[in-house]
Amino acid sequence: MPPVIDLRSDTVTRPSAAMRRAMAEAEVGDDVLEHDPTTLRLEERIAALLGKDAALFFPSGTQANQTGIRLLATPGTELLLEANAHLLHYEIAGLADLSRVQVRPVATPDGVLTAELLRAAVRPASPHVPRCSGIAIENTHNAAGGKVMPVAVADGVGALAKELGLPLHLDGARLWNAAAALGVPPARLAAPATTVMVSLSKGLGCPVGSCLAFPEEAREEAWEIRKRLGGGMRQSGILTAAGLWALEHNLGRIAEDHANAKRLADGLAGHPAVRMIPPETNILIVDLLREPDTSDTVIPRLAARGVLVTSFGPRRLRAVTHLDVTDSDIRKAIEIIAEVLK
Ligand SMILES: *Cc1c(COP(=O)(O)O)cnc(C)c1O
Repeated sequence: MPPVIDLRSDTVTRPSAAMRRAMAEAEVGDDVLEHDPTTLRLEERIAALLGKDAALFFPSGTQANQTGIRLLATPGTELLLEANAHLLHYEIAGLADLSRVQVRPVATPDGVLTAELLRAAVRPASPHVPRCSGIAIENTHNAAGGKVMPVAVADGVGALAKELGLPLHLDGARLWNAAAALGVPPARLAAPATTVMVSLSKGLGCPVGSCLAFPEEAREEAWEIRKRLGGGMRQSGILTAAGLWALEHNLGRIAEDHANAKRLADGLAGHPAVRMIPPETNILIVDLLREPDTSDTVIPRLAARGVLVTSFGPRRLRAVTHLDVTDSDIRKAIEIIAEVLK
């Protein structure tokens, strides 16, 4: 077997020796009983980075996202979401089951949910239609190929939410990538949002974990919802030490992943079998143009040569760069993909 270049997701990173050391040496306590000191430190650090009052550590982005929505949305109302949002497609109908809300998907040409598109989707109040109880945005947008929502668009959505009296949730699993791509602090992009989810287990390279940031008055309820969902963890400092380590060592290098995604796109540009969405961050979407290439036939052929990617549609592939993908991996991946599609 050739060495594997794993471009399936930025979740496949393995914790480095130094990160593992930080985990092993973490000061810990029972976080459900009396707070774990390392977890408290991470939560404070994340809240500060996002410009929010408080944050909690969660085992997954899905649980943190679902808690955010549960905090904001009233059962029996509807939530405005971009039509290809992670919350809608990849969280196993959690919104319906856990928050009992209906989703009103808003179609966009490129994954960027603007205030204009949202305004057109808001229904005038009437006793005959669902009441809207919130808006959720995703930055970067995964299904749109790591697409960045610019500051002005996020601010516009925030202004509309305020005007309508609606809370705004930000699914920021890759907010770090958006901030790096725009050259702004994460707090700037989080400013319009009431609640913000960020992942530690993607671009930051931690083995486990996400956080939800929220206003002070939501603290007690957020704690309760997390506990109810089974997210109360004990000596979680073992995990949050990885987060603190990653904020110090991996946050500043995230633009390297963007450069690698661009290198991959540039290296394949001009190949007659593919068309790419130019990557803005660390996700490259590759459309297969030639018969009989399909995701189902191409993915195993790439895998046999050691390049792993995922399917994002019958003739669409997704390749994601991350901490464990090097410059030379990218060069090899370009060669192998070009050969397999020859
Ligand atoms: C990965 C992801 C999540 C969920 O995170 P998990 O830790 O995998 O549960 C939520 N939103 C977006 C945009 C994601 O990419």
